[in-house]
Amino acid sequence: MELLEELRWGKTPACIHCGSVAVYKMTDAATGKRNKRFLWRCHDCKEQYTVRIGTVYEESRLDLRHWCYAFWRASTSKKGVAALEIKRHCQISYKSALFLMNRIRFAMAPDQATAPKLTGTVECDETYIGGRPRYHGQSLPGRGTRKTPVFAAVQRQGEIRRRVVADVSGKTLKAAIREVVDPNARICTDDFSAYDGIGKEFAGGHRRVRHTKREYVRGTAHTNTAESSFAIIKRGIVGVYHNVSKEYLHRYLWQFDFLWNNRSLNDGERTVAAIQAAEGRRLMYKQPLAG
Ligand SMILES: [Zn+2]
Repeated sequence: MELLEELRWGKTPACIHCGSVAVYKMTDAATGKRNKRFLWRCHDCKEQYTVRIGTVYEESRLDLRHWCYAFWRASTSKKGVAALEIKRHCQISYKSALFLMNRIRFAMAPDQATAPKLTGTVECDETYIGGRPRYHGQSLPGRGTRKTPVFAAVQRQGEIRRRVVADVSGKTLKAAIREVVDPNARICTDDFSAYDGIGKEFAGGHRRVRHTKREYVRGTAHTNTAESSFAIIKRGIVGVYHNVSKEYLHRYLWQFDFLWNNRSLNDGERTVAAIQAAEGRRLMYKQPLAG
């Protein structure tokens, strides 16, 4: 609890109701020690509150130790961490573990309004994730399968933006590129026809490798970064989560993107970044999760 208070407020704890810094920790009258519920009180507006209010923890009765442990695991496991494992390690119900992990993934979700557009050289690629082919032995990508199309744009030496897309048509993929890539960037893709013509819209132009001709790298023209980012996700989805249905896949993408975009931090710093991202997310919770 005190760790979370420090992460949220630093050295100047402020009232969550009125913003006043004239606040104090409530004490237990009998023992003189800190109140068991870690309550704070504000001199100015007289309201009481705890660090949970207005955060991802608010509606949960789960012990904050479990939150911290789950944040740590979700922020440091490259392939992800299954709710079943959190259930075992924290000795909580599966339902509670799922609740916890979903809230943590939500905390890791990018803020669409403030996420900067990608620039420099940006690799764009698409893949299919999850599900099993409906007919065994057939592995036509997408066709006749329950797999979900996912688009990725990744800036070389920079951040990644991945999302579930409705289909892999030119219209859909180009719209996804426009949304996350700066018009000054240079686009790198393979020779999939959906990307035809996108170069006209970007000052840096469009470089392509001819995967259909078994060409994978030509100078700086390649999509290896995007492809390896998909490979990590697929190992996690198959190995840790044992597949994820289409309707929940976007939540897992939030988690994997968070790990990628914070890869230069050490494990402790990355965990702190996730906990801090949880602040203020509660009010937005219902809407984006339904989408
Ligand atoms: Zn106040």
